[in-house]
Amino acid sequence: MSLRKFFRTVFLVDLLEGLGVTFRYQPTKNVCTEQYPAERPKIAERFRGAPRLNTNPETGETLCIACNLCAVACPEQLIVLASERNEKTRRKELTTFTFDISRCMFCGLCEDACPVDALELTQDFELASYTREGAIWDRQMLEEGPKPTRYKY
Ligand code: SF4
Ligand code: SF4
Repeated sequence: MSLRKFFRTVFLVDLLEGLGVTFRYQPTKNVCTEQYPAERPKIAERFRGAPRLNTNPETGETLCIACNLCAVACPEQLIVLASERNEKTRRKELTTFTFDISRCMFCGLCEDACPVDALELTQDFELASYTREGAIWDRQMLEEGPKPTRYKY
């Protein structure tokens, strides 16, 4: 053992250096840990997260015209929707819409394809579920959006 190493060992230099680093970062101004979920992180403006099927805020009716363009544009083919023709108005009306978020890569091609801005990838990022079935969002879930637990301390 070299003399330098001997003195470092005897006088616990490594330990003291380590403690020095610890105490240098003790002041709260140096703490950079995000206190999630009590404090929500700031999301980047162009972040693409949870899908949302937008509705008319006044009537509550879906903006989706059931054109199927989003489903065709999706490279993962995870959007499945169905519609039926309204015999009075002769317009197609959306009946079901499912979106499997477990297979989504959030590329945004579906929202770009939507001609009426009905489908949108929002800044909601809490997508976890306890089951695989929970990752398949139906029309109601897509219209209402996720409802994550808000914790308070
Ligand atoms: S974001 Fe991409 S992968 Fe996800 S549903 Fe839309 S087109 Fe498909
Ligand atoms: S592209 Fe838009 S309007 Fe067409 S089916 Fe998809 S969400 Fe509905």
